[in-house]
Amino acid sequence: MRSQDHDRIYLSPPHLGRHELNYLHKAIEDNWVAPAGPNLTGFERDICEYTGAAHCVALSSGTAAIHLGLKLLGVGPGDEVLCPSFTFVATANPIVYLGASPVFIDSEAETWNLCPERLREAMEDRIRLGRRPKALIIVHLYGMPCKLREILAVAAEFCVPVLEDAAEALGSRYEGQPLGTFGTVGVFSFNGNKILTTSGGGALVTNHADWDQKARFWATQAKDPAPYYQHSEIGYNYRLSNLLAGIGRGQMELLEDRVKRRREIYGWYQQHLNGVSGLSFGPTEPTGGRSNRWLTCVLLNPAETTVTPERLRPHLETRNIESRPLWKPLHLQPLFANAPMYGGEVCTTLFEQGLCLPSGTAMQDSELQRIAEAITGAF
Ligand SMILES: *Cc1c(COP(=O)(O)O)cnc(C)c1O
Repeated sequence: MRSQDHDRIYLSPPHLGRHELNYLHKAIEDNWVAPAGPNLTGFERDICEYTGAAHCVALSSGTAAIHLGLKLLGVGPGDEVLCPSFTFVATANPIVYLGASPVFIDSEAETWNLCPERLREAMEDRIRLGRRPKALIIVHLYGMPCKLREILAVAAEFCVPVLEDAAEALGSRYEGQPLGTFGTVGVFSFNGNKILTTSGGGALVTNHADWDQKARFWATQAKDPAPYYQHSEIGYNYRLSNLLAGIGRGQMELLEDRVKRRREIYGWYQQHLNGVSGLSFGPTEPTGGRSNRWLTCVLLNPAETTVTPERLRPHLETRNIESRPLWKPLHLQPLFANAPMYGGEVCTTLFEQGLCLPSGTAMQDSELQRIAEAITGAF
């Protein structure tokens, strides 16, 4: 069978280094797998050092971090939260966990992230309707910085706090400053497919010391300071284990290397697929922005080629190469069929024309060669 000719090339598999095992060994030797522990504290310190954030709380997932982050911003039942439509569903689900509802906004064509003009339009319209947004979520999709300067200016003008979903953007920068530190709360993910992984995990960063304490409190079942189990608030079981944090410590040592390799992979594809008619690369870095290029994405322009993403993807699959459509916009999801949406043409077109290519940092150039040949073969 054709698909068994070669080993499978995955989209973005975990890529472990050499030191993760040392941290794991130490935790097991010291019998410190729970609770909390030195790896957890160390992992949080590593993230603070790398990003420059004052505080970090390591959690069981990026989704948990978004949930607690929105709660810190005061989001609750009946509130509205502004959110890009073009993102993974985990950005918006926690809005609903809190009894609030999302209001979706289109992308701009350069960075593919939240459009500042549409944001202003939505902000003004919601306020006119008497529905002042409680918070704004910004996302740096595929690691690409959004137009931060323009977006933060609109948020400040309307005094709406910002949660920064940097789940895909660890290692990316804007005007030299690491992403994740621009919002009042920032969020990272260490899920298996991300640039670094703890197999599953997340982190919340903030400069507010009292919010750091509050997030830890909520993440450990909201235990009141009493000698017995007493609870005055609803809590969650959201802390990362000291074992997984050990993997995170080993991974953090590799971050700069991983960013370098992801960017090289993007450049490699650009160079080797340059001239394939109808195929182009995106998104584009905004002024002052540097992307970690988590995933390499291509667009297929239907005016120039009959090859569509839904023809190319199965074609690559027969050669045992995994590729994925871009995120399906949330305003097109059955789950959010009734949510308000401002604009929609840009992200809908990106979804129709885009495909993510294998971007794992452990990939060899020979594998990239195999992918490039498979792609050009389809045209
Ligand atoms: C992965 C991801 C999340 C969720 O992170 P998990 O750790 O998988 O819960 C949230 N937002 C975006 C944009 C993501 O890509």
